[in-house]
Amino acid sequence: MTWRTKFVDYDARRNPRTDRHCCMCQRDLRPGQAHRHVYLLADLLALHPGDFDKREPLASDLGWHLMGMDCARKFGMDWTAGHAGFGPTSPVAPSHDP
Ligand SMILES: [Zn+2]
Repeated sequence: MTWRTKFVDYDARRNPRTDRHCCMCQRDLRPGQAHRHVYLLADLLALHPGDFDKREPLASDLGWHLMGMDCARKFGMDWTAGHAGFGPTSPVAPSHDP
């Protein structure tokens, strides 16, 4: 079984001030600022959301990281998810059912 991965060519020169920052440009994200989520394997390889169900998570995975919208567009929106969470259809808005 294979899955698609893509290297996140991040900007290592910046030092993020907070732990809420884009994993690519390392810029801090303001509270409420639009962003996407990427699932990173070891060595900063992003796992394509369409291949989540082909792979078991490993302890060495870096897991979910935030990515700003500008970087997500550059990186490829289809490589990012709207919400963190495993699975091809990550958790969406909560149901309004009582
Ligand atoms: Zn960024």
